[in-house]
Amino acid sequence: MLAAGSAAERGLRVILLERNARLGKKLGITGDGRCNLTNTDERDAFIRNFGANGKFLYRAFDAFSNHDLVAFFSEQGVATKEERGGRIFPANDRADSVVGALERYMKRHGVAVRLSSRAERIVVDAASGAVAGVRIRDRETTIKAENVILATGGLSYPATGSTGDGYSMAKALGHTIVPPRPALVPVETAETFPKDLQGLSLAGVAVTVVSGRKRIASETGDLIFTHYGISGPVVLSLSGAIVERLDRGEPVAVSINLKPALDRAGLEDLLIREIAGSARKLIGTAMKGLVPKALVPVLLNAGGIPEERQCGRITSAERKRLAGSLADFRLTVKRPRPIEEAVVTRGGIDLKEVDPRTMESRKVKGLYFCGELLDIDGSTGGYNLQAAFSTARLAAANVPTSRP
Ligand SMILES: Cc1cc2nc3c(=O)[nH]c(=O)nc-3n(C[C@H](O)[C@H](O)[C@H](O)COP(=O)(O)OP(=O)(O)OC[C@H]3O[C@@H](n4cnc5c(N)ncnc54)[C@H](O)[C@@H]3O)c2cc1C
Repeated sequence: MLAAGSAAERGLRVILLERNARLGKKLGITGDGRCNLTNTDERDAFIRNFGANGKFLYRAFDAFSNHDLVAFFSEQGVATKEERGGRIFPANDRADSVVGALERYMKRHGVAVRLSSRAERIVVDAASGAVAGVRIRDRETTIKAENVILATGGLSYPATGSTGDGYSMAKALGHTIVPPRPALVPVETAETFPKDLQGLSLAGVAVTVVSGRKRIASETGDLIFTHYGISGPVVLSLSGAIVERLDRGEPVAVSINLKPALDRAGLEDLLIREIAGSARKLIGTAMKGLVPKALVPVLLNAGGIPEERQCGRITSAERKRLAGSLADFRLTVKRPRPIEEAVVTRGGIDLKEVDPRTMESRKVKGLYFCGELLDIDGSTGGYNLQAAFSTARLAAANVPTSRP
């Protein structure tokens, strides 16, 4: 939508093809329906959120930065506000107002929107090797076009329309597709007890990804237990590191520190205080003062301590084990949830085959790419939408008004 509107604003004749019967289905559910549009991070910090492939984004970010994005939406009547971690949201907390603004922007500049029109193939002129049009599925029609911006998204949340069509269209034209994998994805655990804890949310826990003896990555945030394992912002953030190790066939565990503000000695002191004054109390009851009720049997079980043991009979070795479980509560990761449940897709159009200064294909003249379809994915916090908007704007800026 931003690519279409921006190209039209430059005076190009633009047709937008959307397979759904309405626009912006995914955009409308972003940020839990509030749309975390971008982030206030400055350029280098911003781009670090995309890992090694991030450098591809420098030109796009310079062409349309987070500041430009905020100014653009403000001009379209969408005021924004900043929240925790520099996250930018529409001031009215409504993702649909972002979709509406883009629709109005396109309309104002005369984009012809064709809904329920699923692009099937990009037609290339055999003689020149340049783009000549787009074939639409089920309609037996081909729309003539000198340039095409492919913006079909990744493979995540396919019910929104992003089913990876762009990969096959680009592949048919000789592009390499880096295998799509889930990113920002919940994970399944070998342990089955998360099912019993389903819905339990742990706020502000420190989570570390561990592979063998190595600590791979660590973050503090909120975690939620699900019927298959664990999810929540901190798990999604760490999932890139988890998936990478699993892909290499390495074992992966997740260590949860339930009391990140305390070191081991502090934890033991806390346990002593909790246990000392209540010698006749059952340890199961005493622990309810320290962790959510549902977690108590699991933690005691991990420490090999019966729930009905009286506090006065807890040995110092048991107390140490309990402190250990509070600081390093382990879960074994089995696999990520399927790509359909991932917030974004890692992999996609190989960046080596796209010019980062223009977003044009290095293989087919007149073919441009933007958004999640590219082999770019970032952290949570508004980075992915900014990448989509920046690459869209840059592609639109570089489509020639007429081919020489
Ligand atoms: C639940 C959820 C929440 C998210 N929240 C955030 C957030 O708050 N902030 C953030 O930065 N990122 C968020 N993301 C990620 C972000 O939504 C995506 O990275 C972004 O939408 C990618 O934009 P895109 O335009 O490349 O692709 P998409 O938004 O996927 O749009 C692609 C469009 O192309 C259409 N299409 C596909 N194939 C065809 C075809 N063959 N013919 C015609 N049309 C076709 C689709 O129907 C769709 O409308 C979230 C993702 C999910 C799933």
